[in-house]
Amino acid sequence: MSENDIQVINQNRSFRGWNLGIVPPDKRRRTVFLPGKAKCAVCGRGITDRDWRLYQTCDFWKCRVQHRRQQRTFRTEIDEHERRQREEFERRVCLLRDKAAGLLGIDGPERFVPAVVPAFQRPITYLPQKRRFALGDHLKSLIAEAHEKRKVSPDDHPDNAAPTIAPDANSKPLPIVQEACTTCRGSCCISGGNRAYLTVEMILRYSNEHPEFEAHKVRAVFLSHVGERTIENSCIYHGKNGCGLPRDMRSTTCNEFECARLRRLLKKLSGPGPHLVFLVAAEKSRVVRYAFVHI
Ligand code: SF4
Ligand code: SF4
Ligand SMILES: [Zn+2]
Repeated sequence: MSENDIQVINQNRSFRGWNLGIVPPDKRRRTVFLPGKAKCAVCGRGITDRDWRLYQTCDFWKCRVQHRRQQRTFRTEIDEHERRQREEFERRVCLLRDKAAGLLGIDGPERFVPAVVPAFQRPITYLPQKRRFALGDHLKSLIAEAHEKRKVSPDDHPDNAAPTIAPDANSKPLPIVQEACTTCRGSCCISGGNRAYLTVEMILRYSNEHPEFEAHKVRAVFLSHVGERTIENSCIYHGKNGCGLPRDMRSTTCNEFECARLRRLLKKLSGPGPHLVFLVAAEKSRVVRYAFVHI
């Protein structure tokens, strides 16, 4: 074979993209094909389960590129659909505000900024004893860990560590946050479970503030705030009137969390008050409750 022939072959390989590791369909590696299970989303050829999980296409570059383009278009369409739905819902909220203001005799409903927060609605049930035991066990391990920590570094004051709670009056939530969360009734507390986001740092701080309390007393105080009847399958402290735990005993997560809708509302209200807000608690696009707020 002459030198020129070799060059032509190399050019073809390069043109077909072999050097880049891109294999054309007729030269592709054989794939394990499970009939009806994994097929390329573009050309429909059989592909491995791995390729399906990672790419949903075969390993031909054109299929990958086209699939990515389809996904982008699809995402844009979904975003556009969600935007239209949001606008439609906001329009309905404004109609509801005007109607409710008329019924309640409130003048100038357009002065109230409409804001939507999540709506929590679950029944109240008697707390199963095993959940109380689970919290007791969790507290026991936290207290033991806190005790160990204190033994290792007795001079470590919890205040030197990352802030864990909001103990003073200055850290009280804004009135609008209180109103919004009251209207919502604690959708975010659902993931509190039997542990209520309590941490070792929290226990350390509490013990430091109450040096007269022994370990069993600290545990008893935390357990004493658990209600007989709580919201079904929500945080163990989540009761009919909201959180049963005093604010200075809650974790930082509980004291500082703001959901996306609440953040959106706070952004809307930036600037000096007083603020007039029409708060709507909604589940998807169904209005569950509402309130006119003057803060
Ligand atoms: S932070 Fe959001 S989800 Fe949590 S209670 Fe407040 S409004 Fe509801
Ligand atoms: S401790 Fe209170 S604020 Fe925190 S998740 Fe439980 S109910 Fe909600
Ligand atoms: Zn393909």
